Amino acid sequence: MNHVSPLLFFLDLLYPPRCGACNRLLTSGMPNQICPRCMQAIQLIYPPFCKKCGVPIPNNIKYKELCGRCKKGGHSFDRIWSCTVYEGVMARIIRQYKYHKKRLLSHDLVQLMIRFAEMHIPMKDVDVVLAVPLHRKKEYARTFNQAEYIARPFAQYFNKIYCRDVLRKVRYTESQSMLTKSERTRNVTASFRLYNRHNVAQRHILLVDDVLTTGATINECAKILIAGGAKKVSAFVVSRGI
Ligand SMILES: [Zn+2]
Ligand SMILES: [Zn+2]
Repeated sequence: MNHVSPLLFFLDLLYPPRCGACNRLLTSGMPNQICPRCMQAIQLIYPPFCKKCGVPIPNNIKYKELCGRCKKGGHSFDRIWSCTVYEGVMARIIRQYKYHKKRLLSHDLVQLMIRFAEMHIPMKDVDVVLAVPLHRKKEYARTFNQAEYIARPFAQYFNKIYCRDVLRKVRYTESQSMLTKSERTRNVTASFRLYNRHNVAQRHILLVDDVLTTGATINECAKILIAGGAKKVSAFVVSRGI
């Protein structure tokens, strides 16, 4: 127990830490919020995956560069990497993290992101890391921006500049989850604004978010960043739908 503060020790006694996915008791004093069994059940996306949007491409498909949807083009971002598919244990963790305000789960999510990035993302080409912003009303209600809590430690691990006040969500939009693809695109149009553009000028920006659905939000952010002088915009998300 020697590295655990007395306060944490008492909090652990009162509220023994439990796995954010299966609720099993965890070993006290460890930063992990997911038990080893659940962590092992999470599969990182492995190649082949789409070189534009990161969706896994089934092995029986001959052409493995781009998925059917990305062949049409028209994206402002360069590419998106995704760590995992939003299902099973992963979906439970994200829901706990985001909607039940279990911020400490960011620790485990960042571990997964680092593992994926070390295998697949050329981090040496990235200049600046940004989190996809939330509208301040939503951030206030949720008490934190879930993207920021993973983007900052991720950037720190790779010694990258992390900028907070570059993108702001200025238009309050309805939750994306109930909308169709075209409604989502309309829903996010003109909802972000760029500040402190000197932070992005001529730089390769990596946008970080927790979940990717259609990519409409990332595309909108990328459009604004490119218009503001960014050299290239890529994105990295913890989990994506398929
Ligand atoms: Zn578990
Ligand atoms: Zn694709």
